[in-house]
Amino acid sequence: MSDIKRLTAPVPPGGTIGILGGGQLGRMLSLAAARLGLKTHIYCHDDKAPAFQVADRHTCGEFDDRIAVQAFSESCDAVTFEFENVPATTIELIAHLKPVNPGAKALRFTQDRLEEKTFIQSLGLNTAPFHAIASDADARRAFTALGGGAGVLKTRRLGYDGKGQIKVRTVEEAVAAIASFKHAPSVLEAFIDFDFEASIVAARGQDGSFAAYDPPENSHENHILRRSVVPSRLSERQAQEAKEIASAIAKALDYVGVLAVELFVRRDGTLLINEIAPRVHNSGHWTLEACAVSQFEQHIRAVAGWPLGDPVRHADAVMENILGDEAADWRRYANRRGALHLYGKSEIRPGRKMGHFTTLAPLTKSPWRP
Ligand code: AMP
Repeated sequence: MSDIKRLTAPVPPGGTIGILGGGQLGRMLSLAAARLGLKTHIYCHDDKAPAFQVADRHTCGEFDDRIAVQAFSESCDAVTFEFENVPATTIELIAHLKPVNPGAKALRFTQDRLEEKTFIQSLGLNTAPFHAIASDADARRAFTALGGGAGVLKTRRLGYDGKGQIKVRTVEEAVAAIASFKHAPSVLEAFIDFDFEASIVAARGQDGSFAAYDPPENSHENHILRRSVVPSRLSERQAQEAKEIASAIAKALDYVGVLAVELFVRRDGTLLINEIAPRVHNSGHWTLEACAVSQFEQHIRAVAGWPLGDPVRHADAVMENILGDEAADWRRYANRRGALHLYGKSEIRPGRKMGHFTTLAPLTKSPWRP
């Protein structure tokens, strides 16, 4: 659309970056913006949003409140988001008023797992085999087409951290799983017996420049990220391939900002793409201490039209999430050597991301050069 606003000059220090969503990612983006002398205005429906505590301004409102969204946009020089399920209509409204990045194309392909996987394959990149499902008959057909192995049924929209996904081992389980999703449009993909999981966190600037962080190795518990480790077990060649994957995706999406691509590393060494996150990512939190420019600053730089910063890693790092009740043990973390981050969430819930802890060690392997 021709009346989409684009940034014509970098947002100077003193300017305001609007962030849709007020969770820990918005909070850490806000802190990074402050380091550059930029202000943030957070928009979130939750009056206890962790990002409100560290932002220059906040608006507590729903995404479909057009008047509040419009007033928020007017107060900002550029707008971004910290989670990908912002309604496309909200982004469209803002895009006519202020530059929004990442743009509509990135959201379209990441809000829907079927669109996402189809898009990834259209670039000649690999995903797990998958089939679209909306009925019992689809589930039967798709499970059989997977060739007898286990599958994972995932809703096309609004799934994250294992929500909206069920592992299925038989046709009957596949049918029961789609019924439990009330036949919501879903995808059935093959269960991948991977060697390990990794991700690549990278940024694309307004000028098309590209910078990638060293890809971490990630482990999950109950579908929630537990730990990210750099360096990973990826070889130089695999790390280079991961970077090329992120670069190809970012370019095809006309992307501006930080994105993460989650990868399954198969036993034969091949990389499969699980998911694209059009935002800063939990597996990149270690960049706060181990790189001169963190993923959060990098994202702010990109959406503000600044040059991208140096992503080179200058330490080994292990980032561990602090989940649910573990946050009650904050004194134990405070006594450990390393960097403690607590997100200021008012309520502990099982599995909720309450904070993270990063342990650094001297470089054991020279960092992979982006
Ligand atoms: P997702 O919500 O798609 O990012 O999935 C969360 C986690 O579930 C992944 O990081 C994997 O650990 C696991 N998982 C998801 N899909 C698959 C799959 N097709 N095969 C094996 N594990 C999977």
